[in-house]
This record gives sequence, C-alpha cells and structure tokens, in this order.
Amino acid sequence: MSTLLELHDVRAAHGGITALHGVTLSVAAGQVVALLGPNGAGKTTTLRVAAGVHPVESGRLVLGGRDLTGASPRDLARAGVCLIPEGRGVFPNLSVRDNLLMMTFTGRSREEIEEIAFARFPVLAQRAAQTAGTLSGGEQQMLALARGLATDPAVLLLDELSMGLAPLIVARLYEQVAEIARQGVAVLVVEQFATAVLGIADHAAVLVRGRIERQGRPDDGLRTELSALYLGSA
Ligand code: ATP
Repeated sequence: MSTLLELHDVRAAHGGITALHGVTLSVAAGQVVALLGPNGAGKTTTLRVAAGVHPVESGRLVLGGRDLTGASPRDLARAGVCLIPEGRGVFPNLSVRDNLLMMTFTGRSREEIEEIAFARFPVLAQRAAQTAGTLSGGEQQMLALARGLATDPAVLLLDELSMGLAPLIVARLYEQVAEIARQGVAVLVVEQFATAVLGIADHAAVLVRGRIERQGRPDDGLRTELSALYLGSA
C-alpha cells in the first residue's frame, strides 16, 4: 500500500496556545486510520491541518510524496483531500437532490454524482426530494459522505461520524466507510468514543493533549489504554 497522507512532527496552535505538539501520522491508500482521544485532545485540529484549513506552525504535510505544507484548502482539495466536518455539513433547507447537485462544481455531471451516491446509499434515492433537514441523523451523515464521494477523494477525513447516532446506524456507516477505503481511498477517522471505528480500522492512534501517546494495530492493548483514558486514570 502506498502512503498518501503524511503528517510529520506537526505543531499547530490556536491563538498562541499550542494544540498539536509534534504529531506524526500517515495513512496509506486503502487504509482506515482511527485517530482517537478525549475531548480537546487536538483531533479536529489534526484533520483541519490535513485539509489545509488550519495552518501548521512547524512540521510537514505531505500528500502522495509531495510536500504541501502551507498549501491552501483549495490546493489540497484539488490534490484529492476531502474533509467531512463534525456536524455533517449538509444544507438542511435544500433537498437531497440539490445537496448533491451542488457538487457538480467538481466537473462531474448530476447523473454521475447521483449514481455514485445512490449506489452507495440507496436510501438517498428514496429521499431525493426531501429536504436534508428532515432526514434522520444517519441519513444526513450518508448524504455528507455522498457529497464527499462526489469529489472523487484520494484522502477522506471524517470528523466524529458517529456523533448523536445509534450504535447500529454507526456500525452500518462504518461498513460503508470500510468499503470506500477498499476502493483505494485513504481514510482518516476522528472519534472520541472508539468502539465502532476500531472494528474497521487498520491502524489507530491515540492523541492526548496534542501528543500521540500510542499508535498501532487496534488490539487489546490499545483498547485497554483507551478505556483507562476515558475513565480518567491515564
Ligand atoms: P473535540 O472532540 O472536543 O472536538 P478535539 O480533540 O477535536 O476535541 P480540538 O478541537 O482539535 O480537539 O482542540 C484542541 C485544543 O485547541 C483544545 O484545547 C481546544 O480548546 C483548542 N481550540 C480548538 N479550537 C479553538 C479555537 N477556535 N480557538 C481557541 N482554541 C481552540
């Protein structure tokens, strides 16, 4: 597997306060990497750095072997990076169809975009005329993913996909995420509560106060460490 996304010793700050103290992380094509950690650990900041939305103070952002440190969000999007932010980023007052139609800016036709979306998430076809705000939380997340897929991403960055959703729905969404990765996309998933994503992740990293404390296969050792963190004993 070839490495697509690399963060090397990335430091980033919010208004003078350091949020990332040298994060090193890589995601290969076809791989799902889970970035886990408690509230405020710097997970969202890491994703925003990877999408070029948040500047790095030092360190490097490399995409497909190309150093893109300091590149604009637009350049990173052009290079195939797609960020699906927490809160889904769908337009609640627009129909499902119009939410998808907006993605024609990518150069893909409406038919192509709908075909991709409806093949992956058939329920969206049934809901095509409904306003996105009336969809269930899981369906809104599917729509957000479908909009992301319309950009033909090489790297997909997902922030708290599971937020507010029932475990069964989360498990189904993650099955689709695993399938997207199998088609060659490098997927970096941020989650605070880990269980579902560990089921599909090839690799997991635990971020605490802006530092990666541990990374490796999502095995029992990692699970134990995570439970300790969330119980406040780490
Ligand atoms: P959460 O799960 O709460 O989103 P997180 O792990 O994603 O947490 P970040 O949102 O990346 O963490 O935040 C990392 C640190 O940076 C935290 O201490 C947070 O308070 C701080 N921070 C995040 N956004 C801002 C901002 N816009 N202004 C100032 N500080 C911020």
